[in-house]
Amino acid sequence: MTIKKLPLEVIKLIAAGEVINSLAAVVRELAENSLDAKAHKIVVSIYPQLWKVQVADNGEGIKKDDLLVCTQPHTTSKIANKEDLCHIKTLGFRGEGLHSIAQLAHLHIASRTENDCGYEIFSDGNHITVINPIAIALGTIITVENLFHNIPLRRQGNPPFKKQIKQIQTIIGQLSLCHPHVTWQLFVDDKLTLYINGNNQTKKILPQLLKTIKYTDLTSQQIILNTPQENNKSFLDLVLGLPDRISRPRPDWVKIGLNGRVIKSPELESIIYSSFHRTLGRDRFPVIFLHLQTSPQQIDWNLHPAKAEVYLHNLEFWQQQIKQAIEDIFKITDNNINNNFQNQRVEKILQVAENKPIYQIEQKTTQNEESSGLGLIQLEVIAQSRNTYIVAEHSQGMWLIEQHIAHERILYEQLQNNWQLVSLEQPIILENLLPKQIEQLINLQLEIDTFGEDLWAIRKIPQILAHRNDNQEALIELSWGGNVDDAMVAVACRSAIRNGTKLTLSEMQNIVNQWKITRNPHTCPHGRPIYLALDESSLYRFFRRHWVLGKSHGLND
Ligand code: ADP
Ligand code: MG
Repeated sequence: MTIKKLPLEVIKLIAAGEVINSLAAVVRELAENSLDAKAHKIVVSIYPQLWKVQVADNGEGIKKDDLLVCTQPHTTSKIANKEDLCHIKTLGFRGEGLHSIAQLAHLHIASRTENDCGYEIFSDGNHITVINPIAIALGTIITVENLFHNIPLRRQGNPPFKKQIKQIQTIIGQLSLCHPHVTWQLFVDDKLTLYINGNNQTKKILPQLLKTIKYTDLTSQQIILNTPQENNKSFLDLVLGLPDRISRPRPDWVKIGLNGRVIKSPELESIIYSSFHRTLGRDRFPVIFLHLQTSPQQIDWNLHPAKAEVYLHNLEFWQQQIKQAIEDIFKITDNNINNNFQNQRVEKILQVAENKPIYQIEQKTTQNEESSGLGLIQLEVIAQSRNTYIVAEHSQGMWLIEQHIAHERILYEQLQNNWQLVSLEQPIILENLLPKQIEQLINLQLEIDTFGEDLWAIRKIPQILAHRNDNQEALIELSWGGNVDDAMVAVACRSAIRNGTKLTLSEMQNIVNQWKITRNPHTCPHGRPIYLALDESSLYRFFRRHWVLGKSHGLND
């Protein structure tokens, strides 16, 4: 037998029992059990009107003897003693899930392990009726019927069925993101309503959950880290929507997974928001799923009955790593240039319907990167188009960079690094300021005093504005509100080279060199894309260059 009753001292250490208050809570408990049983196929069927849920999996199954005890309180195969509480690797460990469900519903479990036939049990809460041998494939099918038949009030406390189905879809979606190797099906009244198959890639799951997201809008990365104070590795998997392609009006797609389960973590979420600051437009939120898989010792799951909140030890360390990972993903390097989403985008623009890549463009090795110092690609400016676009070439294609916003990004980051105010020899005189404008200029730490009736003298201004002849207008603009950061954006925008300005090759090269090493070269501080990559492989296909030796010369047929 592998399922055992927990010792009393362990029971006392475990947070309040599982709360089964909805169909969704049942689905969560059962699906998590299936995952713990190493299933890679999970089929959830619900019949809301009947308050019925069935979860079938192809996991390890439950042994005959274990079937008899699995619905008793505090019985689990996942931990055995106090020490195990510090090493929890499974989603369940309290041995309460099946017991709680059995108290509230009619439960039927059919299961088969390897080298045995299948068995089934029925439970009505208090006793288990007979074990019958049955024919069933390897795995477990658990059916929960008449949920809350004995507590009608709990049924009434639930939202309409439509909303309950949504909750269930959310739970399955969240689990699927954390377990991309699993195929999921959700049937509602025998109708397939959700099918998720990620092929072991989280990046493939997101577009299945949110139809407005395309695979090519996403980028992903896995970072392997040394676990703090331990001699093992942790993994940080990041899938994020490219900020110049997708964003959301609400923070509904900022999701954090921790060791296999989506959790709420205001501390980690705030780090994500700050990493996207000035990368997305105003009031826009990123699409991001971040999954941290670390040693169980870093986590205390015991805080919340549904384990939705946790204590994460070494919080600052993890925050720092997440920040760094997001920053790195934005950098333009030889390593990430090839999976650049823009290739697909350009192909769409050019309407290339070819899907056979013909040749592989030579890939620069990491050694080459070192010669460029910062591990960034070489971009050589070759021309300016329409006095607006910088045309730059690199080993894998050609880029168009919009001069104004590239420069704006450079200036904005320079201002962030160094918001310097300088004293002016000649003050700038402003007139007819409203009290709130004066207050705003003071908030921005500009030196301001009265100069006569309805006149004010500004004696200290941001350095970058000092030698501009439009600095009066700039100050008025700043006086209309916003914090220092808004002021930086406004100043950067005003000071950046305008489109329509003719530039020399070396001036443009200078801009490109500075721009490509900015922290976030993809978008300007307002969230607009800065460059368009015309990848050589897309151009190659567009011009059908592979035809030259083939069809067009009639050499083969
Ligand atoms: P816990 O998950 O905390 O261990 P549960 O009450 O949810 O407690 O489950 C009790 C035990 O039943 C589990 O420890 C596991 O051994 C077994 N079990 C439940 N569901 C499954 C399943 N789908 N496949 C295999 N074993 C299962
Ligand atoms: Mg469980």
